[in-house]
Amino acid sequence: MSVEIIIDKEKCKYSMYDPQGCKKCMSICGASVFATRPTEKRDFSIPKEQRLDPTIWQISAPWADVCNLCGACLKVCPHGALAINVDGKPLDK
Ligand code: SF4
Ligand code: SF4
Repeated sequence: MSVEIIIDKEKCKYSMYDPQGCKKCMSICGASVFATRPTEKRDFSIPKEQRLDPTIWQISAPWADVCNLCGACLKVCPHGALAINVDGKPLDK
C-alpha cells in the first residue's frame, strides 16, 4: 500500500513566518506524520549548509509511511489544504 499526503501550499495557512502557526493537522496526528522545518534559500551561490532560512518555515508530511489513514487531519484542516491518496485513490474525509 502506498500513501501519499499532499499539502496544498496555497491553501495551507501554516504561517510561513511563524513556526507557531496553524499546525492543526500536526497536533491531531497520533502517528506523527507531519513536521515543520525552515525552508532553504534558493541562492545556490551560498554553500548548502548555510542555505537554511530560519525566517520562513513550511509544514510537510515526511513520514506518510506511518499514516494509519484515520482521516483526522483531513477533517481538522480549516482550509481544505490536505489530501491523502492511498494506492492512487483519494481517502474520503
Ligand atoms: S490520516 Fe491520521 S495518521 Fe494519517 S496523517 Fe492524517 S491524522 Fe495522521
Ligand atoms: S491544518 Fe491545514 S492549514 Fe493548518 S497547517 Fe495543516 S494543512 Fe495547513
